[in-house]
Amino acid sequence: MNKTKIIHVNPLCFSQQELAEGGRLLREGKLVVFPTETVYGLGANALDGEACKAIYTAKGRPADNPLIVHLPDLSGLEQLCRLIPQKAYELFEAYSPGPLTVILPKRECVPEAVTCGLDTVAIRIPSHPVAAALLREARVPVAAPSANRSGRPSPTRLSHVVEDLDGLVDLMIDGGECGVGLESTVVSLAGERPVLLRPGGISLKMLEQVLGEVEVDRAVTGQLAEGQRPQAPGMKYRHYAPKAQLTLGHGDPAALRQWLIACSEQENVGILCYEEDVAAFPHAAHVVSLGRRDDLEAQAHALFDALRSFDETGVSAIFGPLPEMEGIGLAVRNRLLKAAGHRVVEL
Ligand code: AMP
Ligand code: MG
Repeated sequence: MNKTKIIHVNPLCFSQQELAEGGRLLREGKLVVFPTETVYGLGANALDGEACKAIYTAKGRPADNPLIVHLPDLSGLEQLCRLIPQKAYELFEAYSPGPLTVILPKRECVPEAVTCGLDTVAIRIPSHPVAAALLREARVPVAAPSANRSGRPSPTRLSHVVEDLDGLVDLMIDGGECGVGLESTVVSLAGERPVLLRPGGISLKMLEQVLGEVEVDRAVTGQLAEGQRPQAPGMKYRHYAPKAQLTLGHGDPAALRQWLIACSEQENVGILCYEEDVAAFPHAAHVVSLGRRDDLEAQAHALFDALRSFDETGVSAIFGPLPEMEGIGLAVRNRLLKAAGHRVVEL
């Protein structure tokens, strides 16, 4: 394959017919990029092991990092999952369609290429109207990780996908910018107790309102201890990384600002900061706002685009804040820690 077709679909006004080709290509085992409310996804027929293997090749994704299976609604759940606790239905009812992924015991029809040999499968029902229409059109469950080359920040607009995957997939569907901007919350209901594996748009508090106490996997905020086995294989990789080394500062607003000013006086440095502080770094080679300090949704939305923007400027080091853990802030912090390879300076 060497030519990728791109079609544009206006999420506010389109006909189901516009997704017919995408649906057909998916059924035929081809790779189709599509917009979701979290980030762009790289989709293949989840019941076709060979098609799913092609996702790993296109992304350069490690073969032990499983994929999320996308459905248009709950009607396909029992075909894929062998054991579905009542709490899973309650959770989907509360937050789906939306940025929520639930891990459940899988049935045999789910190929190994989707689950990387795990006995569980990850299920999500996206709310983006174009994603929902494509899934209905496909009439097969669609396995899709984020549509970036492995290790790079996830794509929140089609230009990011083109940077990473042009010529490597069959079709890209452009639906404009993704709303949430960070990947879905991943929660496992396959064990005795619910475990949060990846924070995202559905906060821990929102999960606990339905599930009661939810354990937070250690990898969400910390590094895995030497020899500790990750719950989800994907949790062990350095991720979302811009090309230059990112270092995060942790401290109160005044200390953070002072530290960033000192860092910005080095040569060829990039600064990631809160909106309130953008004017404070006249010597920095590149300054990017993450959004206002108290607007966590805006930070989630801006994060990956901000990280990618440093690559175009050729800065040799990047400095930024370690966000607090409230609400979706936990997800922003998790992605920044991974992007920084856990390099944090206590201020
Ligand atoms: P991506 O869509 O590329 O951002 O990544 C999908 C995420 O879902 C990764 O963090 C995977 O490790 C996780 N995931 C997918 N399937 C499973 C599973 N069966 N058990 C645990 N985590 C999973
Ligand atoms: Mg990803």
